[in-house]
Amino acid sequence: MYNQDDVLNTINSYYSTNRRAPEVSFKEALLKGLAPDGGLYMPCFIPKFNRGELEALSADDYPGIAFKILNLLTGKDIDRDDLINLCREVYNFDIVLEGVVNRNYLMRLDQGPTASFKDFAARMMGRLMQYFLSIDSKDITILTATSGDTGSAVANAYFGLGNIRVIILFPFDEVTELQRKQMTTLGNNIRVIAVDGKFDDCQTMVKRAFMDESLAHLRLSSANSINIGRLLPQSVYYFRGWSRLAAKSDEKVVFSVPCGNFGNLMGGIIAREMGLPVKCFVIATNENDEVPVYFRTGTYNIIRPSRNCISNAMNVGHPSNMSRIAAFYGGIMDEYGRILKEPDMGKLREDFFAVSVTDDETRNAIDMCYRQFGTVLEPHGAAAWYGLQKYLDNNPVQRDGNQLCISLETAHPAKFQRELTDILKINIPLTSSMEELETKTEEYLSLENNYELFRNYILKHY
Ligand SMILES: *Cc1c(COP(=O)(O)O)cnc(C)c1O
Repeated sequence: MYNQDDVLNTINSYYSTNRRAPEVSFKEALLKGLAPDGGLYMPCFIPKFNRGELEALSADDYPGIAFKILNLLTGKDIDRDDLINLCREVYNFDIVLEGVVNRNYLMRLDQGPTASFKDFAARMMGRLMQYFLSIDSKDITILTATSGDTGSAVANAYFGLGNIRVIILFPFDEVTELQRKQMTTLGNNIRVIAVDGKFDDCQTMVKRAFMDESLAHLRLSSANSINIGRLLPQSVYYFRGWSRLAAKSDEKVVFSVPCGNFGNLMGGIIAREMGLPVKCFVIATNENDEVPVYFRTGTYNIIRPSRNCISNAMNVGHPSNMSRIAAFYGGIMDEYGRILKEPDMGKLREDFFAVSVTDDETRNAIDMCYRQFGTVLEPHGAAAWYGLQKYLDNNPVQRDGNQLCISLETAHPAKFQRELTDILKINIPLTSSMEELETKTEEYLSLENNYELFRNYILKHY
């Protein structure tokens, strides 16, 4: 067994996927978000668990596994005892593994405060940022635009954290009532602004604010999905699922992942690099099929504007994490999707099975899964489930040999009450935390789509 402390001295740096910026520490990568050359940060070195350490994970609870993984990846930037405490504070909820048929399982990642898998990452990133800011006695303002899920996960994750103020802009007509209430009933350090415009208008305001010198004193920062602090925590549940279900320590698992920006999948790729026995990752996209087409043909074409599908959190025409995947396979893809150096396509095709799932196929999977097995899926998890069935159809030896498979369910079905009632003709009850929202008071500012008004409001209140 290696000594973890020896490893820690060598892993404490992060490179930019564009390869034109200096390497930085974990802390710097976390607080910067984007590298100065427009690339995304990736760990220079990914440590591996050995067989004994992998086996030991089955005795750990979720926070225990999270600590072991994050301790290896973040290096000596964080004190070990502090990191243990952070993991216990953040992960006061667990995953649910549900057997569906044979050795095919559903991993439900919907037990967090906003019933979305984004809670796993956003909560850890918030605590990590606050940890470093409080050591340096600094504060920042998180400014983010949301079309729904990210805003509610970020608002809940950063709620009550010292040293951090949060401003969230959302397009009033484009988020559901539930998503809105998950942001607007918090108060405290969370300020929410409903813009009379579209998501793109909110994003434009955010971009202008970042370049506006009159707001420099706020030290604006973003909490979006490209931050390395949101990526690393997403490796943990892959280990958790495997350690609960694998019959022996080298049993390989097939994971099926519903993909939008490919951050979730990237967490899985890091987990495999750390020694998790993975047979294959199924990449399930919706009708935004730029990645499955790329894997098939070797030509990468952005889809703009992205296609609207019922798995709306996956409506992404150019996933930002593709540049990380390319980097991982020896290539370079810039932020515009241009391939400057070809990754190892042969290896990519070996490690992944990429499939695009139409809305009809998604609805069909929801219907079939409920009628055959009594399992309720929402649209994102249904796309992954459908992708897994395609994979097994292509690999009958694995299907008939009872291959261990885990399909990821990324949101709670109650978030998609209307769609599911339409398809299944059953009533999907709200969770208790969703019901509690009904009685809470909402507080938000309604604003015209006008940058000057937005800036004056910010200057007056901060
Ligand atoms: C964000 C999201 C996804 C997509 O995850 P990526 O990491 O962007 O690939 C899938 N399902 C749900 C419910 C989401 O909110």
